[in-house]
Amino acid sequence: MKSMHSSCEKTMKLNFLFVFMIGMMGCFACKNRQEPHVYAPTNAKHLKKSKAEWEQLLPTAVFNITQLKQTEKAFSGRYWNHHKQGIYVCTCCGRALFSSDAKFESGTGWPSFTGAIDLEAVDRISDQSAGMSRTEVACERCGAHLGHVFDDGPEPSGFRYCINSLSLVFRKKKTVEEHVHLKKQE
Ligand SMILES: [Zn+2]
Repeated sequence: MKSMHSSCEKTMKLNFLFVFMIGMMGCFACKNRQEPHVYAPTNAKHLKKSKAEWEQLLPTAVFNITQLKQTEKAFSGRYWNHHKQGIYVCTCCGRALFSSDAKFESGTGWPSFTGAIDLEAVDRISDQSAGMSRTEVACERCGAHLGHVFDDGPEPSGFRYCINSLSLVFRKKKTVEEHVHLKKQE
C-alpha cells in the first residue's frame, strides 16, 4: 500500500515536471516565433537610428534583413501566400508601403507587388552586390531594406517589387463603419 502510494506520488511529480517542461518549451517557442510588429512606430517624416540601436530593438531575423540587407528564404515568409485586403507597413517605422491591391502571384515565394502605395513610399537604390546589377528598395522614412524591384512584372506598370515578408507588417483594411467610428473618436 505504502509503495503504491509512493509510486503514485512519483508519477504525479513526473507529470508535474512534464507539464512544467512543456509549458517552458511553449514560452520559448513564443519568444522565438515573433509576431509581425512595428518596432519603432512614428509619424515623423524621417526616422534615423544607428545600426546598434536597431540591433537592440529588432529580433535578429528582422535586423538581418532590414539593416544588413539579407534575403529571407523563398516560400518561408508569412506573406508570400497572403491574400487578405489591407496594407503592408514597414516593420521598423510603420510607414505604409504597399497595398494588397497591387499584390500579385509571382511564383517566386516572396510577396510581390506591381508598385508601392504612393510615389514617395520607397527609395530605389542601385545595388551592385552579389555580382548582380539590381535596384534595391528601401523604406523612405527609415531606410529599412525591403527587397528589390525588377522590370519583369505584369502590365501596366511592368514592375515586380520583390519584398521580404520580415520587412512588412500587414494591416487589415478597415471597413467604412470602422473608419467613421475612428473619426468620431478623434
Ligand atoms: Zn520604415
